[in-house]
Amino acid sequence: MGRLFCVIPCYNEQEVLPETSTRIREKLRDLISKNKIDADSRIVFVNDGSKDSTWDIISDLHYQDPIFQGINLSRNMGHQNALLAGLMTVKDFCDCAISLDADLQDDIDAIEAMIDKFNEGVDVVYGVRSKRAKDTFFKRATAEGFYKMMNGLGANTVYNHADYRLMSRRALLGLAEFGEVNLFLRGIVPMVGFKSDVVYYERAERFAGESKYPLKKMLAFAVEGVTSLSTKPIKLITGLGIFIFLVSIAVFIYSIVRYFQNQTVPGWTTTVLSVWFIGGLMMISLGVIGEYIGKIYLETKNRPRFIIESYLDDSEIKK
Ligand code: UDP
Ligand code: MG
Repeated sequence: MGRLFCVIPCYNEQEVLPETSTRIREKLRDLISKNKIDADSRIVFVNDGSKDSTWDIISDLHYQDPIFQGINLSRNMGHQNALLAGLMTVKDFCDCAISLDADLQDDIDAIEAMIDKFNEGVDVVYGVRSKRAKDTFFKRATAEGFYKMMNGLGANTVYNHADYRLMSRRALLGLAEFGEVNLFLRGIVPMVGFKSDVVYYERAERFAGESKYPLKKMLAFAVEGVTSLSTKPIKLITGLGIFIFLVSIAVFIYSIVRYFQNQTVPGWTTTVLSVWFIGGLMMISLGVIGEYIGKIYLETKNRPRFIIESYLDDSEIKK
């Protein structure tokens, strides 16, 4: 038994919030009646600078029923930062927290299984998608490619796990010790350690509204993930450089031989091709290195990761 806080980042989610809030409240009430969680468990919505009426809806919910709480960020800071703002706010008042999406794509029936594991003494429970039958082919292919690439490039994440997870209070306190500005939660949580387990669930379709993660954001997210967790791409580039260097030695020997055979004129194609090839490689390499330098720049600035504008009922959240 313990006090559970569900943390839900919301960005322009006015279409889904009424339904989401009702269903999650039902779930919590059910768990409370089964004596699996404390009666003062809470649902915390983090408004990530929405431009629609999301915050008004959250306020109304709170005034109708204090089980709902709200955190209003000063502007849109992105899903990961919004989630972190919520988790870092609740860490001192909860026994465990579950993070999930506002669109209920994370099946809330898995909450019970997560709580059961928590009550057995597990600190981190990852929600893992058993299949993605309901996602479009494109989303599935890109998302699965994403996990494979992430792991291949040295960012160790739990396969097919996004940000649907339970963390105990001490795991949250551990997470708080990571002061990284370039935040990629699903890569950092495994580094926190403690006993962990997984719960499988089926990923549903977004029942209203549209995805806030278009392809462009997904790609940016992937680059973020890799460069904020691992330096493997830099090593790959070094390896590539050595390989290209060896190739050029071979080409050099080859051209000397051709020169002495008086066959040097028809070399235009290879010259042009290699100039482009090397040029391309240089650009990529500079780009990758630039990514890391950008990261260093941001880390040294040590900017705040989120700024909270207001809480709905301070006394409750801060109790
Ligand atoms: N979200 C957020 N800030 C953003 C973008 C998204 O807080 O800048 C929230 C969004 O409201 C939702 C969750 O992050 O609760 C996941 O977003 P979405 O469902 O659009 O992503 P998808 O499921 O398509 O990957
Ligand atoms: Mg979604």
